[in-house]
Amino acid sequence: MNKKTMDDVALAGKRVLVRVDFNVPLDHGRVADDTRLTASLPTIRKIIESKGRGILMSHLGRPKGEAKPDLTLKPVAARLSELLDQPVAFATDCIGDQAAGVVRSLKDGEVCLLENLRFHRAEEKNDPEFARQLAAWGDIYVNDAFGTAHRAHASTEGITKFITTCVAGYLMKAELNYLGGLLSDPKRPFVAVLGGAKVSGKLEVITHLMDKLDVFLIGGGMAFTFIKAQGKEIGKSLVEDELVGTARQILDDAKRLNKKFMLPVDCVMAKDLEPASKAAIADIGAIAPDMAGYDIGPKSARQFAERIGQAKTIFWNGPMGVFEHASFGGGTRVVAHAIAGATQSGAVSVVGGGDSVSAAREAGVSDKLSHISTGGGASLEFMEGKILPGVAALNDR
Ligand code: ADP
Ligand code: MG
Repeated sequence: MNKKTMDDVALAGKRVLVRVDFNVPLDHGRVADDTRLTASLPTIRKIIESKGRGILMSHLGRPKGEAKPDLTLKPVAARLSELLDQPVAFATDCIGDQAAGVVRSLKDGEVCLLENLRFHRAEEKNDPEFARQLAAWGDIYVNDAFGTAHRAHASTEGITKFITTCVAGYLMKAELNYLGGLLSDPKRPFVAVLGGAKVSGKLEVITHLMDKLDVFLIGGGMAFTFIKAQGKEIGKSLVEDELVGTARQILDDAKRLNKKFMLPVDCVMAKDLEPASKAAIADIGAIAPDMAGYDIGPKSARQFAERIGQAKTIFWNGPMGVFEHASFGGGTRVVAHAIAGATQSGAVSVVGGGDSVSAAREAGVSDKLSHISTGGGASLEFMEGKILPGVAALNDR
């Protein structure tokens, strides 16, 4: 990685301003899932142990520039304090006099959290004056919020124009190392398992990775755009008609470059997602016009699992079916276990995408994979070869 990290700077006695991703689900004013808090602990603990002063900032939800009481970060400060086993001071606004007071009272080895950045519209607008006000809190800026690094906001990009020392936190470093490693020097065969519903972004990933990958396993809703491109009947399955041409181009490229490009050979179909609607297995090509494919079928799952078993590097993005429904979760489960098995045999596996991460967790394999990316959109944009403004703005080595 060509970016400086926390390990490259002295933190003692310094005000270390950290952009974290504390965009956690809340339930009745309590943190319902603290995965994102836990993920940032190494960075925060490093500041505490180095006797720096940690000033943490994050967004939460979409308050759209208004101070919405249900989107306050206050409960997050409380939960973080439990996890760190030390007090976490809270500033009721991320800029202004009260925040200045909280920051000023911090002693070496102490931590505070600023209120939701997106209570100010200026954050997402990357307003320079707002960025300057935030920058006033820190001697050193650390970006540990990979999940928002693909957005040029005041706290991820603008702020770096006002602080000289801007480095990556440990979570950011892990993300860049794992995702960057996939792109730079993957062990072969390198297999991508792609599925889910957002077809457009994923087609860009395929195009960008075409040279680097050996095997493409395509399931989920996105498979049907390819199946339609092959001229086969897909019934009422999910499709992005305007992308059928792109899909056809990708199929041609894959053939020309001698890539293994596998689509499902069967699927689990139903009339709709109502619990009363009966699910049935059908070969691709035999989907009834009034039915939709909601999962890859058992033959496809077996073929995919076999390929995954031979892989040395695996990138997984997108579930194989509508895994939220019990009848359509089988394909995703088989693939998840195959990836875990390959990892146990020495393959490097990286999972990205919000729903894929939930699916991995549901299948009980999340601790059996090499790396679970915390950045949904950001990891996808990284794999598309796009420059992430929040990363680009950090100091080079
Ligand atoms: P991720 O969040 O991992 O990037 P996406 O958001 O692209 O993945 O896709 C996840 C969604 O795709 C899930 O909600 C799932 O129900 C849906 N999905 C998967 N397969 C199908 C399918 N065959 N038809 C319709 N929706 C599907
Ligand atoms: Mg999603």
